[in-house]
Amino acid sequence: MATILDGKSLAAKLKEEIKAEVSLLKSGGTEPKLAVILVGDDPASHVYVRNKKRDCEDVGILSESITLPANTEKCELIDIIKSLNNNASVHGILVQLPLPHGLDGTEITQLIAPEKDVDAFSYYNVGRIMTGDYSFVPCTPAGCMELIKLSGISVEGKNCVVIGRSNIVGKPMAMLLLRENGTVTVCHSRTKNLSEVTRRADILVAAVGKPKFFHADDIKEGAVVIDVGIHRMEDGHLCGDVDYADVAPKASLITPVPGGVGPMTIAMLMHNCVDRAARRCHE
Ligand code: NAD
Repeated sequence: MATILDGKSLAAKLKEEIKAEVSLLKSGGTEPKLAVILVGDDPASHVYVRNKKRDCEDVGILSESITLPANTEKCELIDIIKSLNNNASVHGILVQLPLPHGLDGTEITQLIAPEKDVDAFSYYNVGRIMTGDYSFVPCTPAGCMELIKLSGISVEGKNCVVIGRSNIVGKPMAMLLLRENGTVTVCHSRTKNLSEVTRRADILVAAVGKPKFFHADDIKEGAVVIDVGIHRMEDGHLCGDVDYADVAPKASLITPVPGGVGPMTIAMLMHNCVDRAARRCHE
């Protein structure tokens, strides 16, 4: 039976470290602040923003939520982002995605100043991730890497298979594993014989966006399984992209859903914000 990669308790430890760093910054006169822009009525986005705000407050980061109606004009959103870019008391800015119809998330996130782009979605930060010389990493892949590192797993020379090629998860995840000298394969919706590829993975990162998609037959004996997916089923329970009950007996380490990648993602968001505030102090 696999050992559980407990994201909840690792994130709690990280939060304690971040909290200590925040008090140090505050004693030096810097109060880390995150601005979160939420447009529209997407219920899941409202929950995510509420959770981010709560966690920020737990560690002492000031968080400002800017909630706008779904019919917000692009020019209004642009003005808000520009004003946050120019506000020296704000260290991190994020626009909660997805945006309502008529607003292009990729276009809007490019307006965030790269040095405040705590989600690392701007082309500048994406480019830096490609070169391996980065300061910000998108929070979900960063959280997966922290889970891997904190669990003492060496990536070097391992067959790493990432399923999903989104700009937010799959592609940056592949770059991070490559930087750690993994031999990386990226699979997607057009990949042929997917199971043949996943069965070769020493480290499997599932970011396919389909509930319980991977089963024991898709996994190599003893693989490390990182499940990024999160889905609420009809009966209300949460599950990942991996059929946990089926896969866990075959894996060596596995992240649960909930309590795996999710809490680490929020911890990395706070880390990115505090890191930026600390850098500003030293500028
Ligand atoms: P996405 O929909 O943008 O991308 C899904 C990827 O899966 C695509 O690249 C697609 O090519 C690939 N795919 C789809 N069907 C496939 C198939 N049959 N075979 C192989 N590949 C296939 O999703 P995303 O934004 O990358 O998110 C992935 C999952 O992670 C979702 O469940 C999402 O909710 C979750 N997520 C979780 C967190 C977290 O903090 N835990 C953060 C972001 C995303």
